[in-house]
Amino acid sequence: MVIIQSATGPLDTASLGFTLMHEHIMVRWPPMYVAYPELFERSRRMAQAVDRLKEAMAAGVKTMVDLTPIDLGRDPLFIAEASRRSGMQVIVPTGLYYQRPFYFLGRPDEDMTALFVRDITTGIGETGVRANVIKCATEPSMDAINERVLRNSARAHRATGVPICTHTFPANRTGLDQQRVFKEEGCDLGRIVIGHSDDSDDITYLEQIIQNGSYCGMDRIGIQRPRTDDQRADMVAALVAKGYASRITLSHDASCHIDFFPEGFAEERMPDWHHRHISLDIIPKLLQRGVSQADVDQMTIHNPRRIFEMNEPY
Ligand SMILES: [Zn+2]
Repeated sequence: MVIIQSATGPLDTASLGFTLMHEHIMVRWPPMYVAYPELFERSRRMAQAVDRLKEAMAAGVKTMVDLTPIDLGRDPLFIAEASRRSGMQVIVPTGLYYQRPFYFLGRPDEDMTALFVRDITTGIGETGVRANVIKCATEPSMDAINERVLRNSARAHRATGVPICTHTFPANRTGLDQQRVFKEEGCDLGRIVIGHSDDSDDITYLEQIIQNGSYCGMDRIGIQRPRTDDQRADMVAALVAKGYASRITLSHDASCHIDFFPEGFAEERMPDWHHRHISLDIIPKLLQRGVSQADVDQMTIHNPRRIFEMNEPY
């Protein structure tokens, strides 16, 4: 038993249960709401989030790891309220996306590391909500600035012990670039989830990530491109058949609300992109492909718990 921090306070890892490792409650582009605050209808978005989270719980999801980076509008009070009102256990992130973090460009590295560490050890701003995971991202390839963000994420990870879960662009095999940087920073790659790995059609690349020690986050399930659900399920089953169930996590990268599209667009064009899809539609596909229920439990319950139980600085 290990105590970690959730949106609503301390959480015993024994109660994590079925955990989605890469999701979002709300994704939005912050500059729009500084310029046009009227574009954000908070109470409507909150009601929507609470509904979606309750639906996911009814489908068997007990915990959700929210990986919304600071520069895509991470909102700890919104997450905490949605968690409290729905009953969904939520882990809150710190960290940055792959876009250029202008605030930090002229500042020393230590400032970035210190803010990530403060989010984790003290709390985010004045909210009292503490982060317990670090998000970082590389797309389409790693440049010098992106590498700086990864190095500061690695330092905050080692200083606090909370896991790193990444966003990659597998067409350019950026998971391996990330592992190189983390390794150079002295990270244990076994405490890192290389995300969006199921966007890859290259099992050799995924085996390399696993053999280097990390988890493959198969976490864009329900988005039908660049890979369909059947292709994603085939790849998970192939990796499980090779004995890698202990190195895979499953998730959707879905959001209760995302402002990248006009109202209703995502629901219409991507009807499977929601937090119940793995429970309702994908686990049956995996079982049909010879994945056992024990393997499913390994990927959805035991691996997330193990990832959060390594919660010590080093
Ligand atoms: Zn995401």
